Formats: sequence, C-alpha cells, structure tokens
Amino acid sequence: MYQHKGQEFSLGGSAGAIALAPAGFGRRGPAVALPVRSASDFDLVPDLGARIGSRDWWRGLATLIALCGSAIALGPSLNRPVLAPAPAPLTGEAAEQARAQSISPLAYGADTGSRMAASDLVRPLGEAPERPMLELTAALGAGDSFARVLERAGVGAAEAKSVADLVAGTTPLSGIADGTRLDIRLGRRPNKFVPRPLEALAFRARFDLRIELTRVDGALRLTPIPIRVDHTPLRVQGVVGDSLYRAARAAGAPAGAVETYLRALAGKVSIGSIGSGARFDLIVEQRRAETGEVETGQLLFAGLDQGRRKLQLLKWNVGGRAEWYDAAGVGEKRAGLTRPVAGRQTSGFGMRLHPLLGYNRFHRGIDFGAGHGSPIYAVSDGRVAMAGRASGHGNYIRLLHGGNMATGYSHLSRFAVRAGQMVRQGQVIGYVGSTGLSTGPHLHFEVYRGGAPVNPKSVNFVSTSLLSGNELKAFRAKLAGLLSTPLR
Ligand SMILES: [Zn+2]
Repeated sequence: MYQHKGQEFSLGGSAGAIALAPAGFGRRGPAVALPVRSASDFDLVPDLGARIGSRDWWRGLATLIALCGSAIALGPSLNRPVLAPAPAPLTGEAAEQARAQSISPLAYGADTGSRMAASDLVRPLGEAPERPMLELTAALGAGDSFARVLERAGVGAAEAKSVADLVAGTTPLSGIADGTRLDIRLGRRPNKFVPRPLEALAFRARFDLRIELTRVDGALRLTPIPIRVDHTPLRVQGVVGDSLYRAARAAGAPAGAVETYLRALAGKVSIGSIGSGARFDLIVEQRRAETGEVETGQLLFAGLDQGRRKLQLLKWNVGGRAEWYDAAGVGEKRAGLTRPVAGRQTSGFGMRLHPLLGYNRFHRGIDFGAGHGSPIYAVSDGRVAMAGRASGHGNYIRLLHGGNMATGYSHLSRFAVRAGQMVRQGQVIGYVGSTGLSTGPHLHFEVYRGGAPVNPKSVNFVSTSLLSGNELKAFRAKLAGLLSTPLR
C-alpha cells in the first residue's frame, strides 16, 4: 500500500521504513530540508485557517490587520464629496436647442422637440377634408340605453331611436348584456353640421343571437343571425383529497357552483367529516355557443360518494321555493318557526286578568300587537284545517303541521287561504283584525300539541319537505336524466 505524505513515498510498515523518494527530500536529509523550512518562516500570507495560535498564524494576522489598516487609511472618505468641475448652465438659444433634442413623456406634458414655423409656401386649407367612413366600436354600459350608446358614437338622435326600435322588434333591449360591444360604421355626410348616417351595425344581442344591420338602398335592414348553443351541463367528478373545495376547483368546477355545492351538502352531512377518499360529483348548468363562448350557471346536482354512504342531491322547486332534495325525495330540514306577524308581543301564555271578561282566565296563546291589515304568515309548512268564524276567536285559521302539531291564528280581518289548502312557511294566510272577543287589532296565536294548547315558546318545529306522488316521479326522472350527463 502507498501512502501519499508530502513529497515522500513510504511502504506501509512500522520500524524499517525505506524511503523511495529521491535523495534530498527525505526526513533523513537535514542539509537539504533546512532551507525549505527557513523559506516557509518568511511566508507573509500563511493560511489563517490552519495552525491557529502558532507564531506563523500570529504573524499572518498582523499582516492582515496592517493591510486592512493601510487600505482604510488610503481610501477616500465617504462623507466628503469628490469635487469635479460642473458645466455652466445653458442659456438662450443653446438651452432651446438642447431642450428640443431631449425627450420627455407626453404624459408629463412634454413640449419638447424641434418645431418649424410655416413658411410662405404653406397655405391654410379652407376646409379640412373628412374621412369618407368611420369605423368604431362602442360599449353598452350598466344602466345605459341602446339609443344613447349610438348617439354617443355620433349617430343622430332620430336615427338612433329608429335603430333601437328596429332592434327591439327582434329582441328585447333590456336583454342585451351590459358591456356588449357594438361595431358601428358611419357613412359620408353632406356637410359637417349634420351627424353621419349609420351604414352598418353589428353586435351580439343575446348569447344565442347576433344582429347585423346594413344600409341597403338607403334603408337600414336588420338580419338576425342565430348562434347555435349547446346546453349540455358540465359534470365534474374527482377525489376529495386534502380539501373538497380545492379539489373541485382544480377539477374545473366554477367557484360559485362549488360554494353552492358545499352549502347543499352541509344540510345533509357534516362537511368536516368528509374523508379524503370520498368522491364528489357536480353537475352545473352550462351553455356553449358555437362561436366558442362558454357560460356556466347554477349548480343542478350535488353528489358525494363516501363508499358506504352515497348522497345525491337535486335542486327542486316546490311551491315557489327551490330546495335540495336527496334521491329519496327528502328535502332540507328547517328548524324553528317564522314569526306569525311583524309586531311586538303584548301578552304571554298563562293566567291573566282578561281585559274584556274582567276575571282571571288562562291565556292559551301569545298576543302580538300589530296594525289592522298587517299580513299574517304561516309559521311552518302545513295544511289549512280551518279558515272561518269561531266564536270568541273571530275569524280564525288553524294549520296542521304534521307530527301532531297545529297552530291557530285568531281575530283576523281577512283570510288569504281556504280550508284544505297547503301552505308554505312564511306564506301570507290572512290579515290582522279585531273580530271576535278582542279589544283592538292584534293577533292571538296558539300552538297545539295533540290538540291541547301549549306555550308557543316551548316548542321548536323541525320541518322537512317530502316529495310524493307525481312530484316524486318527476323528480326521479329529472335526477336520472341528469345522472346520464357525460363527463367532459
Ligand atoms: Zn290572546
């Protein structure tokens, strides 16, 4: 084995090491080795990382400090300016010429650049010629009117109005989206004092309609150009992973649809409990025009597959209220009651001195003070069991809510529902009055459990909408249709 050690080669061994190096470089050659050692004594720049603390090292440090000190002592001072001759400022003609050659941005109001005065050869024109035709675009602003956009673009008021009427005959002007760009071509005019006539106009009136107007033989002719639109909804599926929101967004679902999706799910499952292995399934309204534009709309379907549990939610409209229903036709749970009337409670449930009868009597409901004719709302979904006169109650409505619960509304001036009718929570069922045993307009509101009045403050309705019969059949058909939506 060889060991490289300085400039000496030795065979691995202990006592009898035989030097193979050329004579004069070995340890046993002091006469030659000494000058080498003495030369290294005068090394002015030793490695300060090695043999720290040795004499050589201290000398090296001293050298370094001396060099730094001399560099600092010789360097220019930082707080004293270096003097140099400054050119004299330009004045008069010279300044004007220098300024003409400089450039400063127009935005800063530049007035530089050489200008030449007109010579005798230049003769002013009596009238500048006009372009024969102007092509420009204008945009319909929010709250703008179609005729006003045309007028701003230079079309005469009368012509702008006739063009607006012409377009309104094809599509309602209010349906034209804000920001729509109008391509306008204005033609030649006889003199500068009249507006140019409209030669051509083209714009996208609706997502599925383009309108072009052209002047043919002096009269404007409108050509509607339908744009084919594909209504196939957008379907997005994927694995939840770290975040349901981010995964759905990354899969291409629009932000608004994902937010609606999370709200729809929140009514049925705890969002926090959705595992990373669950799969989401969203179907969103989508319109794709043949010209390439894509518009997404409302979320139509919200699906979640958690392995053992599958959730399929479809938005369905019952009685004017759209709600998320699951595949079995069960809607959202709604807790609590709507206030039956906008008014202050004037009398509570329990024993009290009756204001008309003059003796202590049990008050079986709550009184709300409200003006004559104030609307009364159904506190929860239900069926009208009775709407008519009932002795001391005056005009009276009783609603059945299921779960053996019912509510009663007394002293009404007018009814807005008939017996047997289904009502939705918040629907107006009648109006405040003072019929029956009453001292003034107010609503006497009762809640019954199993037919017996209970303190309305003690009950908390939880109502759930259920689809049944033909409604459920239609719901299932719609759901099946949507689920056949292909993945994009
Ligand atoms: Zn009362």
